[in-house]
Order: sequence, then C-alpha cells, then structure tokens
Amino acid sequence: MTDSQQRHQIGRMRFDTRRRSLTVASTIRLTPKMLRIVLTSPELADFDSRGADDHIKLFFPRPGGEPLMRDYTPRAFSQADRTLTLDFALHDAGPATAWALGAKVGDTLEIGGPRGSMIVPDDFDWYLLVADETGLPAIGRRLEELRAGVPVITVVAIDTAAEKQAIETKARWTAHWITRDQAGPNDAETLRHALEGLTLPPGDGYVWIAAEAAVAKALRGYVIDTLKHPAQWMRASGYWLRGEAGAHENL
Ligand SMILES: Cc1cc2nc3c(=O)[nH]c(=O)nc-3n(C[C@H](O)[C@H](O)[C@H](O)COP(=O)(O)OP(=O)(O)OC[C@H]3O[C@@H](n4cnc5c(N)ncnc54)[C@H](O)[C@@H]3O)c2cc1C
Repeated sequence: MTDSQQRHQIGRMRFDTRRRSLTVASTIRLTPKMLRIVLTSPELADFDSRGADDHIKLFFPRPGGEPLMRDYTPRAFSQADRTLTLDFALHDAGPATAWALGAKVGDTLEIGGPRGSMIVPDDFDWYLLVADETGLPAIGRRLEELRAGVPVITVVAIDTAAEKQAIETKARWTAHWITRDQAGPNDAETLRHALEGLTLPPGDGYVWIAAEAAVAKALRGYVIDTLKHPAQWMRASGYWLRGEAGAHENL
C-alpha cells in the first residue's frame, strides 16, 4: 500500500437502525427554496451520525398502505439538546416536499436510521464538492467539519442567486454557484463546464458528487475519465431521478 492509500483510509460504521418519532420545534426559510426544519425528541438521546453525507429515512404514512420513505441528510444534530436539523430543497411535488411545506411546530415525523456512516478522513490535500440543491445539506455539513485552512471547492447548481447559502467554515472555501437563470437549466452541462474551468490544487483530493442521477453519472464520468481522478477517492450518488418518485442511485 502506498503512503497516500494508507493516509486516506475511508472508514465505515454501522449503527442499529431504529425508528424515532420526532416533533417539529421550528421551521425557517433559509432561502426561497430551502426550508430548514429543526426536530426534537428525547428519542434523539442516542442518535448517532458521523458522516457528512449520512442519510436517514423519513416515513410518510399512507392510508391503507405501507408508509412512503424518502432520504434526507442530517444537516446537524445535537445529542445534548436532542435536536436534529433537516434542510428540504423545495420542488414541485412529492410527499416529503408537501410535508415540509405544511409542517408546523408540534407536528410529528417518523424517521429511521442512519444505518451507517461513511467517514471520509480529514487528511486529503483538497476537497471538491459538486451538487444540486439536494446535496447542499451534506456540503454544508462537510464545510463546517473540515479542518482549518484546507482548500475546498464547491460547485453547486441553484435556481437563482437568492439560493446561495452562507456557511461557516474554517476551511479555505472557494464557492462556485451555478445559477440556472443565468447559466441555463441543464445541470449536467453547466456543472461540467464549471468543472472544466477549475484549477485543482496540488496533492491528493477527495471528490464528492450528488445530484439528479443522470447529472451525477455524467459528472462522475468526467472526473474519472477526463480528470483521471482515482475512483477510490470519490463518491458520486444520484440523489433523485427525474420523473421517478422516491428514487436514488449509488454510482
Ligand atoms: C442519500 C440522500 C440524501 C438526501 N438528502 C437530501 C436533503 O438533505 N435535502 C433534500 O432536499 N433532498 C435530499 N435528498 C433528495 C430527496 O430524497 C429527493 O429529492 C426526494 O425524491 C424528495 O422526495 P419528495 O417526496 O419531495 O419527491 P418524490 O415523491 O420523490 O418525487 C416526486 C417528483 O419530483 C421529482 N423530484 C424529486 N426530487 C426533486 C428535486 N430535488 N428537484 C426537482 N424534482 C425532484 C421526482 O423526479 C418525481 O418526478 C437526498 C437523497 C439521497 C439519496
């Protein structure tokens, strides 16, 4: 094993999954299309989530059927305060979006997981994080967790400049916001174009991609085939599939 491979060991942890019933403590519009909901419950006393891109299942009951499940990122949590924060990227329709839009203080939400965490070590020389709005919660969490001074480049597709988020980080963060109203609606094309324009820092990097499945797949291809980035130092996921409800794809 080379020094680099020894240095950048990506770890996995497993947790016992259990369902928890949480109560809405607050809702805030972070931006016009991003709704932050803070949930609370004594059942969060033993909640654990160690990876910035962990996910939990949200359960939405259906009369006469199994509940519908949707995946969301624990954007933040505090065991001491028994709170869990979720950020919902609002889109046209879907049970998760409808629930978030209607959520009021005191409402309940059933969650499951996370089943496990993927721990990306904070020892890469740089990080490149690429996403649409659905990956922004995981990017926010990673920015907050990364060590002081490490170069991190984010490339995020959003509808308009009003969707930009201010995120606190000690890392050396360079943000590229790709706004669809200016750059056009084709995220695969505009995000790739933005990647082509980057000069990546020297050394070993970790690349993380999360977006609509076809977009994530196209960007993964570019990073592996054109940038020749080592596949073991990247993760690309389809966080949703256009035209299909409740779908995702690990690439
Ligand atoms: C690991 C993981 C973590 C995730 N974390 C988050 C998170 O923290 N915050 C977040 O907002 N999302 C997150 N997502 C994405 C989220 O799970 C999907 O967007 C989900 O489909 C939304 O559920 P829904 O009930 O609103 O819509 P669905 O019922 O699933 O879909 C209804 C319709 O809307 C379309 N659709 C779904 N999502 C979008 C979208 N974002 N934009 C436009 N059209 C869409 C579908 O193609 C379908 O046609 C995550 C996904 C994964 C796999």
